[in-house]
Amino acid sequence: MARYTGSVCRLCRRENLKLYLKGDRCYSDKCAFERKSYPPGQHGQSRSKHSDYGIQLREKQKVKRIYGILENQFRRYFEKADKMKGITGDNLLLFLERRMDNMVFRLGFASSRSEARQLIRHDHFLVNGKKVNIPSYLISPGEIVEVREKSRKIPRIVESLEAVARRGVPHWLELDKENVKGKIVSLPSREDITMPIQEQLIVELYSK
Ligand code: SF4
Repeated sequence: MARYTGSVCRLCRRENLKLYLKGDRCYSDKCAFERKSYPPGQHGQSRSKHSDYGIQLREKQKVKRIYGILENQFRRYFEKADKMKGITGDNLLLFLERRMDNMVFRLGFASSRSEARQLIRHDHFLVNGKKVNIPSYLISPGEIVEVREKSRKIPRIVESLEAVARRGVPHWLELDKENVKGKIVSLPSREDITMPIQEQLIVELYSK
């Protein structure tokens, strides 16, 4: 599957927002956005006006980059969210938050979503006692995500767990640090997803 392989810090600068794509580095003074908080490229520092379409497109790109999702899959989430009851934008964010790679990151078993994807693909996790190696697997409330016994001493997982206090675990998740497992206690409401996302702009873009 095609993946972005360039500098991820450029993505933060492009979106004018810290997307926290590089684990611990994002919380240190080595963060590129802290030093150069303007878009990359020759015209990065010149002021530019965006059309409504441009603003909607940027918002979609930003959310895709935060969660590390490519266009086709993102569009599928939108289509499913649109068919569900409730507010489409809220449903879309719920799909993204319930992804296993997001859960593994939020519970502190990985320092970024991309690291979470790598660890999941390498068979380091169980869901309700069964091996799951699909980063897009959607976790339901009550399902237990657990680091496999043989993987509990992997330095990346140990270090991430040590650092989790810095970013905190959302209250809608429950982390059992001692047994290296966690679950969704209840699905988050829109207010619980505190990243600066204007999902309505994405709905408008796809509804054209
Ligand atoms: Fe973005 Fe800073 Fe992390 Fe780089 S280090 S990915 S610029 S938040």
